[in-house]
Amino acid sequence: MPLAPKKILIVEDEPDIAQLVKLYLEKEGFHTNIATSGVEALKLIKSDRPDLLILDLMLPEIDGIEVCKKIRTTPDTALLPIIMLTAKAEESDTIIGLELGADDYVTKPFSPKALVARVKALFRRLERTDDPKQSSFSFGPLVMDLSRHEVTVKGKEVSLTAKEFGLLEHLLRHPGRVLTRDVLLNAIWGYDYYGTTRTVDVHIRRLKIKIPVLNDAIISVKSLGYKLSDQVLDK
Ligand code: CA
Repeated sequence: MPLAPKKILIVEDEPDIAQLVKLYLEKEGFHTNIATSGVEALKLIKSDRPDLLILDLMLPEIDGIEVCKKIRTTPDTALLPIIMLTAKAEESDTIIGLELGADDYVTKPFSPKALVARVKALFRRLERTDDPKQSSFSFGPLVMDLSRHEVTVKGKEVSLTAKEFGLLEHLLRHPGRVLTRDVLLNAIWGYDYYGTTRTVDVHIRRLKIKIPVLNDAIISVKSLGYKLSDQVLDK
């Protein structure tokens, strides 16, 4: 059975660029939609959920960073893949964009072909990692086996509380993705939990103490939450 075509929402207020991106993506079999402002984008994401967002940084009313932040802090859309479009002069904003949770970015002026390649690469990366049926994960020397409810580092078992275990599982399921404190709190403690998002910080700290490889790997993302980065494993 052929897979349904992926839907991509292009958020860009410059019509020429939006149309060009649309043309190239549709040539590759993607379905596309265009939003010309952040407000329109947020509406469309609710009414017709895309599989990926191409988000221009400079938008009228609310800019790309605000849109990105809004998406990441809403549990329903927290994991929506985002590629940000930025201009060279906005390089510091590019970094902010990634810190706020874009999965990748492309600098203007860009070649539409290169953008399409990034889109495909991101979908491939997500297909590898976003499998709800996956029951074992490894991260460097760390192995998590859900069926045995066991975490080992270099073969030695690490004792974790239920919440620490849940938190670690959530991070390992979504490597490289920014997970906000609210999203983590809802996923592990549940919506009816009375605690504060500080609870998440406390548990992250404990995980880092118990499993030293996570100390550099779990990155704090300014004002938002956390991200598991596998960059430490390459060193
Ligand atoms: Ca723009």
